[in-house]
Amino acid sequence: MPKMLLLAAACAIALPVSALPVAAAAAETGAIDAVIDRNWDELDALYRDLHSHPELGFQENRTAAILAARMRKLGFEVTEHVGRTGIVAVLHNGAGPVVMVRTELDGLPMEEKTGLAYASRATATREDGTTTFVAHSCGHDNHMAAWLGTAQALVALKQRWHGTLVFVGQPAEEEVSGAKAMLSDGLFTRFPKPDFGFAAHVDPSPAGTVHVKQGATTSAVDTILITFRGVGSHGSMPDKGIDPIVEAAHFVTDVQSVIAREKDPFKFGVVTIGSFHAGSVSNIISDHADLQLTLRSYDPDVRKVINAGVERTARAAAEMARAPAPDISHSFTSNPVINDPALAAATAARLKSALGDDRVILVPETGAGWTASEDYSEFVGAGMPHSVYFAIGGYPQATIDRFKAEGKPLPVNHSPLFAPDHTSAIRTAIDVLTLAVLGVTGA
Ligand SMILES: [Zn+2]
Ligand SMILES: [Zn+2]
Repeated sequence: MPKMLLLAAACAIALPVSALPVAAAAAETGAIDAVIDRNWDELDALYRDLHSHPELGFQENRTAAILAARMRKLGFEVTEHVGRTGIVAVLHNGAGPVVMVRTELDGLPMEEKTGLAYASRATATREDGTTTFVAHSCGHDNHMAAWLGTAQALVALKQRWHGTLVFVGQPAEEEVSGAKAMLSDGLFTRFPKPDFGFAAHVDPSPAGTVHVKQGATTSAVDTILITFRGVGSHGSMPDKGIDPIVEAAHFVTDVQSVIAREKDPFKFGVVTIGSFHAGSVSNIISDHADLQLTLRSYDPDVRKVINAGVERTARAAAEMARAPAPDISHSFTSNPVINDPALAAATAARLKSALGDDRVILVPETGAGWTASEDYSEFVGAGMPHSVYFAIGGYPQATIDRFKAEGKPLPVNHSPLFAPDHTSAIRTAIDVLTLAVLGVTGA
């Protein structure tokens, strides 16, 4: 985190953003909304089509081809297959800053259970050869429609800004590897390097609102794979083997002590075991158990404590079971997304005058960000000096109130029931992203 803040501080580009007078801001929003209205049928159809046809990370061939074609039609110069299935769309509009707007392309390996008329029934083959359902349960379909809608608005309002747009369609965000793949394929060397970057993610907060966080806005993620080794045996003869399920089960419960007893209770940190696979039938004691963990944190010290605690607890569980040491490996990792505090504040002020005070929530550096993670952090870490990642509300207040009254948890991102109000989410995201871009490129 400090490294990124230093980068931002060291950058010579002055922030040109200023809050607009309310009348001018309302006129700007009116102009953007008129473009959205004109294009709405296309955007709505695109969202529904993408929702019904989600693709896994690095398999987003259909998705990327559709978006590439739409961007070419708008006059962007489009390069496909950047970082395998990523796309880069560039539009020059005179001298001015280079601004990146990013969407993710991928869906999740899970079954959708929303009951929507256009719900996904898509399946795909994963890299390990297994077949899975695929669903846009993180909301990336909303983001892609908003990304195209933002491009449409900026093309229509071309006389109001100067600079270069770099619209990035990033693959494999869910695997936290697509951003790295695009960067190592030359995103910041083969194409204009961004001075500013913006991205938005739908979340379960009230529809029509936008949260703008200063500083760390998403968490660091560490993905750990652990294989507990046992000794296979007959189910009736446990003493002739070492049961890896009992061994791993101790670990599953004990590891939460790292969070409860070792981590600073005032600082965010989570350990979740999202996958536990062992055994085949009731009467065989398996010889191994495979676990997949996700660790989340903001603070580098907390990150160290929970990583070390997880590994130590795994080794202790094996020792307690008199089993061989477990295999522990790290898979996906990513740093927190750091929003430039000055740009976040300036953009929030601009959004407030354009959308209304009640729709825009500026969260200070000390406030709570998202517990989720994002490899958008890779772009920020690769030297994009000024960047803001927005959280766009997805649920109508009435829906939130109904769930609360019924005592039910609101379905969040990655729930099979996650079904944000796409009309509101897409329209709000287009307003926010377009206003943000105009804020740094405005004539
Ligand atoms: Zn996600
Ligand atoms: Zn997501």
